[in-house]
Amino acid sequence: MARTILIIEDEQHIVDILKFNLQKEGYETLEAYDGAAGLELALTKKPNLILLDVMLPQMDGYEVCRKIREEHLQIPIIMLTAREEELDKVLGLELGADDYMTKPFSMRELTARVKANLRRAVNQETSRAADSQPSNIIKSGDLTINIERYEAVKNGKVLDITLREFELLKFLATQPDKIFSREKLLENVWGYEYYGDVRTVDVTVRRLREKIEDDPSMPKYIITKRGIGYYFNK
Ligand code: CA
Repeated sequence: MARTILIIEDEQHIVDILKFNLQKEGYETLEAYDGAAGLELALTKKPNLILLDVMLPQMDGYEVCRKIREEHLQIPIIMLTAREEELDKVLGLELGADDYMTKPFSMRELTARVKANLRRAVNQETSRAADSQPSNIIKSGDLTINIERYEAVKNGKVLDITLREFELLKFLATQPDKIFSREKLLENVWGYEYYGDVRTVDVTVRRLREKIEDDPSMPKYIITKRGIGYYFNK
């Protein structure tokens, strides 16, 4: 069954490009050109994913996002922001957006994000259906992460990792295959006080790889997505 993507965007040429490329990838699309119409479509059609522009007539993207989450709809939302609105991405994430992209973006990157967010949504549904009890132990290859004990074990040996390294590993490993930008990792793992210093993420990833990977130069667990960020390969 084709999955449906709702595009809420008031600039016709962007809608056209998105529509064309998403349909080429096999998705069905719905379009709305203002916030109120977009919200209406989101609630009635329940699409599989929403691309949501921030600056919209009638109701802005933040408000649309907030109202969708108020209805407890877990549809992945990717916010589309213009470069000058970039600071507000924090607000978007707080309101329940799953991801954001800054205009102008490449269609290749956008479709990659769409796929990653859809895959994650499916994974979450599957794991919700499989057991309502969240698992506190993540196993992947020769690595075991025990969330309650703050331990990472490799080949039966407890690794000597710092709390921050553990938090980063936990954050990535609990959402496998989802690609996070360095900014998003900073916000989630370090908190807002570190906001902006993205090299901190690279340094911590490098240290973590030295501990969990067989060959840190050929990582199997924490993978770099060039130009985007990092993800955990389960
Ligand atoms: Ca706009």
